Amino acid sequence: MRVLVIVVAALATLGLAAFGVVAAQKVSGQGSPLSIAQRTNSTAPAAADEVAAAPAAAPLQAPIAASSIAEPAPAAVPAPIHLAAAQNVPGQNTPGASLANATPSGKADNGIPACDKPGGMGLSRIVQIDTTGGPAFGFEHFKQYDFLSDHEVVLTFDDGPWPQNTPAVIKALTDQCLKATFFEIGEHATWHPELSKIVAAAGMTIGSHTWSHKDLARNPYASDIEQAKQEIELGVSAVHRAVGGPIAPFFRFPDLQQPPVLLAYLASRNIATFSTDIDSFDFKMHRPEQVIESVMSKLKKRGKGIVLMHDFKPATAAALPELLRQLKANGFKIVHMVPKAPVTTLAKYDDMLRQEDKMDATNTRPESSVVKTISGN
Ligand SMILES: [Zn+2]
Repeated sequence: MRVLVIVVAALATLGLAAFGVVAAQKVSGQGSPLSIAQRTNSTAPAAADEVAAAPAAAPLQAPIAASSIAEPAPAAVPAPIHLAAAQNVPGQNTPGASLANATPSGKADNGIPACDKPGGMGLSRIVQIDTTGGPAFGFEHFKQYDFLSDHEVVLTFDDGPWPQNTPAVIKALTDQCLKATFFEIGEHATWHPELSKIVAAAGMTIGSHTWSHKDLARNPYASDIEQAKQEIELGVSAVHRAVGGPIAPFFRFPDLQQPPVLLAYLASRNIATFSTDIDSFDFKMHRPEQVIESVMSKLKKRGKGIVLMHDFKPATAAALPELLRQLKANGFKIVHMVPKAPVTTLAKYDDMLRQEDKMDATNTRPESSVVKTISGN
């Protein structure tokens, strides 16, 4: 079962239609690709929007957030319908899905590697996101793509990588054979590239969250798109370099402030924007119990969703083992998002980062030769 959700976005400008397409595609290697209609009849009911999008043979005028159509999707898309190619092995061509390759012999029937941890929760589904044309997700702001079924949860973590807390989050997830998406801050990744590499090595999906967590809806960014682009692109380049390999074309705006002109820019870069379905507000919390209560109560109310948390926060890291236990006990299932293709960095900003390096690296003398205790103990 490889193609689960095919959603077609019609991006219309001035009567000339250019079409952006997203396939949030189930990558799980079970039998032949299923049509949406088939999926609807299967055990996992499709969400209403998916059913509405079912007649994939006909061009759809799917609604799209007005803010994301300021620029047409790349005109290279040849036809209104683009079915992503089915893949034989989950994640084989997919950065972020290294789990599929990690235990090639240990796959369960659904194509997801069997969990080797006793009682481990394990992933229920892996969805591949085609970021062509910059689709936007997260019902708090974008209501076009509703790819989760009831009780399905996507875990996302912002503002890392950060010592102690990020490794604790990775451990909690790994102990349950789970994967999540991390929106890293470029500057943080520059400070702790070894942590970005740990996140990647654990098979997590890594996107970016700007260079230094600026609110891009405010000045100077609101009035100067070049500065805003730089804040976005330096983040992409820095996280990419910290990981030392491919990262996802997934982006989240700081404070979920999403200026339409920048959504259009991201669309032109084929980078998907992620708002959230459920904001834990864990950044305001100091006790793990508060984080657990916040996420569980909102999930029980909404039934499913992309959950926003912060691996930067100690309370969240401490909460995660118990939160995952409660998710499992309440019948929630974890879905992992992987990109169809990695992000492409821009040379201009890669170079800018290298310039920063040089400034730091001018002096290479070791600390012991620079700083010496000359009196006292
Ligand atoms: Zn943030």
